[in-house]
Amino acid sequence: MATAVAGPEIERLIQLLARLPGLGPRSARRAALHLIKKRELLMAPLTQALETAMEKIVICSTCGNIDTQNPCTVCTDARRDASIIVAVADVADLWALERAHAVNGKYHVLGGTLSPLDGIGPQDLTIGALVSRAHDPSVKEVILALNATVEGQTTAHYITELLHDADVKVTRLAHGVPVGGELDYLDEGTLSAAIKQRTLF
Ligand code: ZN
Repeated sequence: MATAVAGPEIERLIQLLARLPGLGPRSARRAALHLIKKRELLMAPLTQALETAMEKIVICSTCGNIDTQNPCTVCTDARRDASIIVAVADVADLWALERAHAVNGKYHVLGGTLSPLDGIGPQDLTIGALVSRAHDPSVKEVILALNATVEGQTTAHYITELLHDADVKVTRLAHGVPVGGELDYLDEGTLSAAIKQRTLF
């Protein structure tokens, strides 16, 4: 076991920071030291921001997004095309699509993907709520923006089956060559998906 170089309060701060994604024990130590050195400039406002966020965070009861209001900012935005619902596995995916300004529709966070091996079945996800939203006459398209993994694609197939009798177009993300990608470096699965899903010039 590593010897502590600081009091338990500081060690606790380091341990908590080390739990953040992308931070290991070493970078957590560096981050903690940085926070401590910038106590007034960084640590105090961060403490305040964490406290406020902790108080105000709610999960949108319509789409599952994380926000400080319910329904969330996306759901209440009148400029969005309510005929499109983009289904994503996780809030991180929603935020990624928003950062890319990829689509101007509404969202639905499923809360994960089907994974029998991990014991995650349809009842653990918000698939039922998505299906009932898709039956609203104003909805014309459901985009399944799910990971290109076995779990993601299994989930997409499962939802597509359930949406069979809803009057909506069900689409999914294209699989293929990433923007700026070189063919020589792609794996066989990606290359063959790109050829199968080729589009007219
Ligand atoms: Zn929402």
